[in-house]
Parts: sequence; structure tokens; C-alpha cells
Amino acid sequence: LKSLLNDPELLVTKAYVGGQWIDGDNGTFSVTNPARGDVIAKVADLSRAQVADAIEQAEAAQKEWAAMTGKERAAILRKWFDLMMANAQDLGRILTAEQGKPLAEAVGEIAYGASFIEFFGEEAKRIYGEMIPGHQRDKRIMVLKQPIGVAASITPWNFPNAMITRKAAPALAAGCAFVARPAKETPLSALVMGVLAERAGIPAGVFNVVTSSSASAIGKEFCENPAVRKLTFTGSTEVGRILLKQAADQIMKCSMELGGNAPFIVFDDADLDAAVEGAMMCKFRNNGQTCVCANRIYVQAGVYDEFAAKLKVAVENLRVGDGLNDGITTGPLINQDAVDKVLEHLGDVTAKGGEVLTGGKRHALGGTFFEPTVVTGVTQDMAVAQEETFGPLAPLFKFEDVDQVIAMANDTIFGLAAYFYAKDLSRVYKVAEALEYGIVGVNTGIISTEVAPFGGVKQSGLGREGSHHGIEDYLEMKYVCMSV
Ligand code: ADP
Repeated sequence: LKSLLNDPELLVTKAYVGGQWIDGDNGTFSVTNPARGDVIAKVADLSRAQVADAIEQAEAAQKEWAAMTGKERAAILRKWFDLMMANAQDLGRILTAEQGKPLAEAVGEIAYGASFIEFFGEEAKRIYGEMIPGHQRDKRIMVLKQPIGVAASITPWNFPNAMITRKAAPALAAGCAFVARPAKETPLSALVMGVLAERAGIPAGVFNVVTSSSASAIGKEFCENPAVRKLTFTGSTEVGRILLKQAADQIMKCSMELGGNAPFIVFDDADLDAAVEGAMMCKFRNNGQTCVCANRIYVQAGVYDEFAAKLKVAVENLRVGDGLNDGITTGPLINQDAVDKVLEHLGDVTAKGGEVLTGGKRHALGGTFFEPTVVTGVTQDMAVAQEETFGPLAPLFKFEDVDQVIAMANDTIFGLAAYFYAKDLSRVYKVAEALEYGIVGVNTGIISTEVAPFGGVKQSGLGREGSHHGIEDYLEMKYVCMSV
């Protein structure tokens, strides 16, 4: 991997704590390239005590960082952003090697990840308080926004860069210090952010990366250490529930970006070509491994066959392979468990009467490669209606009218993203308002941007990331009452 990089020093395997690069007390753990199955790095495996030390260093560094002006923090964050963009190709190669997504998509993720640092760096100058007219003649009421302190993150492997920057950027902009625990599958993309943080002049201890093979031990330390004042998590609802329970003891402020089960609805007045294009991006980007991927595709009866035929053609144009090779649109799945989940949902669909339109089995390339798959005749009693597949399986459900499809779309514990394609204006308003989701894409399959608030309702989470709202999760409000 080093030989593929313009700057080989970007590939690091030690953890970044208090401005030092440290070995793990628990030795190392291996990082595997999912496309080739070979070990590409052995990364420092930190003990819980080392993570406690990282928190202590973050706590010590935070005060001086918070004392800087917003403009000073903004200047440093801008350098961090510029360094990411200047090294985007290398960061992309590292990301593809450990995660599997095609290089063009990986470089796209770096630009997306960097955009949060640019955006929140600018916001650092705009953390406004408030003056409220007093309730008595001699009273003055001032509201201050202050950084919450040390924020800790736990993130998944599907966006190894952007899931960290969209938490670290608002935290640092607000004046918090940050301790990141990346997924053990993809630590290299997090560690390189430490290299660039150092080069950008982020003071030692303000941004830390603690790599560890034991997620639960780190999660406990984050929840039990009184210096951590904020936990921010992206991952499954199941683990989010565990962390919220653990965080309850300390009444810790939590942000949770959890699972989704996105409906993607195609009405009979939709532009079908646009809907197919949107479905392709929404379902097959990152090989179906995003929490906002279309999980259930509902198509109105009158256009069902035509949509299915067009989607089949588009899916058969995908090129599966090693993401580092040219022209590849679809990489491997992250691991064997991910393949098993797709097979389980597929088996359930076919056992209950659904049919495979294209794909439907492991790919000839072997490993964790899987054929991009479309199934028809899918119904609400199948597992895929209730659970996230997180893989390249597009299930087509048929519906008759608006009320029926809204009921089906909302029939889930999740509420992250939903999408629909329609032209009739009153239908567009009605459906956008009726969907019980934090994010709704209308005539588009791509909704992620740093300038908009991303987050879910119901069991998909708490809090919002991105936009001016995203910084609030890292700020405390203080009310100062003055008698004059
Ligand atoms: P995914 O299916 O995306 O891996 P998970 O919720 O299982 O979703 O994992 C998300 C992140 O949470 C990963 O970095 C994982 O290591 C971590 N994690 C898993 N279990 C725990 C736990 N009990 N405490 C803290 N972190 C955990």
C-alpha cells in the first residue's frame, strides 16, 4: 500500500494520543483489504488504560483550545481541510485498500469528509449567544454558548473518513477536544487524519485517535470516564441502545446516528429514467453499505414492470471488482457477515415467493464479492421489509395508492432517510409531510451534504450532524442573570 502513495508518511499504524504516536499495550490488530483478503497493516491495539490516558490529555488540552478565538480555530481547521484536499488521492487509496469502495467513490468521500471541516471551521466564528430582555427592571439576561468539553466518538467502517470528520469538525470548531475510536476494520483512514492534524497545527491533545480491537471496553471507558462530556456514535441501533444505557449513569450528552430502513417510492407520474438513476445511486453506492441506502423500493402498479426492466439494465451495467482498478463501480462487501446478511434476506424473499430478476448469488470473483441483485414480487411479510440489508440487494415491492404506500413506508421502527419520485405538486407535499423520517429526498437519491442537518427520528437516532444545527450538540448553553 505504501508504494501506491505519493506521500508514504500518510500511512501510519500507531495511535495518536496527546500529540504522540504510541504503541498499543495490547500489541496490534490486523487490517485486511476486503478485495484481496490480505493483511495490509498491523495497527496499535490500545488498552482501556491508554484510552483513559488519551481522555486525560484531551481534557488538559481543551482549555487552551477553547480559549482561542473562533477565528484562530477557524484558521487551523482551514489548514486541516486544505491538507485533506491536497492529499485526497492518497487518502482515497488508503480508504479503498481497507474498506473496498471504488477509488473514485473513496476520493469523493474524502472531499465530502473535508467539507465538514471547511464548513464548521467557518462556523467557529459564528457561535452566537443571545441577550434576552430582563424580567425585572434591574435584570439583564445573557445566554452564552460554551464548548461542552471532551467529546468522544465511536464510528463504523462504511465511511471511515467522513463519519469522523462530521463529528470532529463541529467539536473542534466549538472548542471541544476530541477522542476518536475508529472501527477496527478501517483505522488507517482515521490515523491519517492525525498526521494531517499535526501538520495543520492542531495543538497536541486536541484531536486523538485511539485504535483498539475491543469496541466494548472503549465504549465503557467513554461512558464511565467523568472527563468525557459528550458521546457521539454512528452505527447500529442495537449498539446505540447499549451506549445510551451506559451513558445514562453519567447523564452524558449523546448523539446517535443509527440504523435506517429507507423506503424509495416511485409513483406513476415519476420520471422513470430519473428514478432509476436515483435508485442506482441510492441503493448501490458503497455496494449498498450506507445507512441511507434504499432498503425497500416501492413501485406503483402501473409502472412496476417498466421500472423493473429499466433497473435491471442499469444494474447489469455495474462492474464489480477491486476498487483500486480502473472502471470498477462496485467493490466487495466488508466481510463474510455482510455476505451472509444479503444471502439471508435473498433466501427469505425467494422462499416466500419473490423472484430474482438479475444477480442473486456470490460473484465469480469469490471472497466477499456479490452480484448486484434485483428481486421482484417482494411483500411486507419478508425480512427485508423490516431489517436493513446493508448490501447490493434491491427488492421491488408493488403498491396501488398513496395512502397504502405511506402506511407501508412508515411501518418500521426506523426513521432516517426516505425517498420518492413524483411530479404532482400536491402529492409531493402530502407525501413529504407524511413520511416519518428525518431526511426526505424528493426526485433525488443523494441527500448528503455538510450544509444540511442529517439525522433520524424514531429508533434511527438522536441529534443532527451538518449545517449550523450540527454544532449545537457540542455546545452548552449558560444563562447569566445580572442585577445592575
Ligand atoms: P456496523 O454494523 O456498522 O459495524 P455496529 O453498531 O456493530 O455497526 O458498529 C459500529 C461501531 O461500534 C464499530 O466501530 C464497532 O466496533 C462499535 N461497537 C460495537 N459494539 C460496541 C459496544 N458494545 N460498545 C461500543 N462500541 C461498540
